[in-house]
Amino acid sequence: MAIVVENDTVRIERLSLGAFGTNAYILICQHTGDAVVIDAPGEAERILERLESANPKYILLTHNHADHTGALAVLKTALKVPIGVNASDADNLGLSPEWLLQDNDVVEFGNVELSVLHTPGHTGGSLCFHTGALLLAGDTLFPDGPGKTGSADAFRQIIQSLTDKLFTLPDDTRVFPGHGESTGIGKERKAFELFSAKPRDPNMYGDVLWSAA
Ligand SMILES: [Zn+2]
Repeated sequence: MAIVVENDTVRIERLSLGAFGTNAYILICQHTGDAVVIDAPGEAERILERLESANPKYILLTHNHADHTGALAVLKTALKVPIGVNASDADNLGLSPEWLLQDNDVVEFGNVELSVLHTPGHTGGSLCFHTGALLLAGDTLFPDGPGKTGSADAFRQIIQSLTDKLFTLPDDTRVFPGHGESTGIGKERKAFELFSAKPRDPNMYGDVLWSAA
């Protein structure tokens, strides 16, 4: 467990869980102890242990890939809180989510407001969650590239999501992805601009790195 953010408003803990080292993030309001869990990769007991002194309100999913949802059923049974996910990713969860999250929805817990950004590309229902200068990005943006895409259309879609919704955020916004370490919007936007200035295969997709162009 790593504490990746601690300010007057919110504390964010990151746990790397399951066979693919997928990140779960626990966000806790510093004033009320109200909390949300973002993604449920696996090892539910490790997530539940971190919530013992908090007051969980929601489980939010960035998307429905199995490495982000393996602990969902156990967490749901233990916590009995609503699950939020985009409608396009509401299948393959093993249960029915209570809250179909849309672009611009706001998730409140304690004194914290999380804005929902619908950022399709990695999956059709991929979501990012934004508060202050912090972005929980799921598998939409990583250090040095976008999330993996399954077709040229999906690659064009994730680039559109990034340019319309993420690279318009302030440069000092910290980005916490679904795997690995954090990065920053300014750094990734500049790397993307270098990438997009170079000629590239119009049908590219898959695992793309800005720096490989
Ligand atoms: Zn994924």
